[in-house]
Amino acid sequence: MSLKIRNLAIIAHVDHGKTTLVDQLLQAGGTYRDNQAQQERAMDSMDLEKEKGITIKAKNTSIHWEGYTINIVDTPGHADFGAEVERVMKMVDGVLLVVDASGGPQAQTRFVLRKAMQEGLKPIVVVNKIDRPLATPLKVHDQVLELLLDLDADEEQFNAPFCYGSARDGYFMDHPDDERKDCVPLLKKIIEHIPAPKADPEAPFLMLVSNIEWDDYVGRVAVGKVLGGSVKKGDTVWLLREDGTKTQSKVMKTFSYSGLATTDSEGCSAGGIVGVAAGIENVNIGETLAGSADQEPLPFVAIDPPTVSMQFSI
Ligand code: GDP
Repeated sequence: MSLKIRNLAIIAHVDHGKTTLVDQLLQAGGTYRDNQAQQERAMDSMDLEKEKGITIKAKNTSIHWEGYTINIVDTPGHADFGAEVERVMKMVDGVLLVVDASGGPQAQTRFVLRKAMQEGLKPIVVVNKIDRPLATPLKVHDQVLELLLDLDADEEQFNAPFCYGSARDGYFMDHPDDERKDCVPLLKKIIEHIPAPKADPEAPFLMLVSNIEWDDYVGRVAVGKVLGGSVKKGDTVWLLREDGTKTQSKVMKTFSYSGLATTDSEGCSAGGIVGVAAGIENVNIGETLAGSADQEPLPFVAIDPPTVSMQFSI
């Protein structure tokens, strides 16, 4: 049975429209109607983060559509966040590449897409802003193919499906000349082309910690994809380290992602992306959370250090 979950990262050069696109998809999924955060732009929550003291460099959003949960994880485009991008790529099963229909791929498109290609992820390409007078969507299609070739895409990656549209006006089509209707063609492509996560609902709880966030009330929150079983408040979890150390703890809270930053959740089942607060002070990225002490820790995933180091002038 394949899971009705899709986990994907969104990649775009700044201003190419990823915030607007995610907002449109949220609306197509009806999230805003159920959510009091109606007026807020979902992924643009930096101010809110500062205000609440949470640090979420990679922001996650969940869209519910036709019985599917589509988790979209934002990726920072700047080379300073190379390690961050790698972590995101390890949580997802495909990427949504958003490219401006007049400017074509730019530096940040290339930087993040390279990481996705290296991780073996398949892209769906969205040529955005085709409503603009200077848009040349078919030229941009060719530029994206050139970029994929240049980044050593394999055959499957190179055969990426394309969608053309306007995030601002809320339509996407399979071809630029098709009738301009709604976001359904893009949502369908996501369901069809992004593989379902490989995760066993019957197995004991297992999660690779891919990011650490901070919550003022419950402290460190371990974020990652649930690779097996499920997790909820009150469960006992074990932090398993490669060196054999095991730390037992109780889940105080789980977080899921919706329109705005993090929200409390009922828990999370196999294949989903979740934040787990279990009062484990020293849990780190790359480590394993498991439902029992007998499970094997996942191989520690080494993540490259940031590609650009901080420079201070004296
Ligand atoms: P981000 O930096 O990739 O998140 O880009 P935003 O979503 O913030 O969009 C940047 C600017 O482009 C904003 O002024 C948007 O209103 C505008 N924009 C986004 N999508 C479209 C589109 O499809 N058509 C047009 N004309 N403008 C768009």
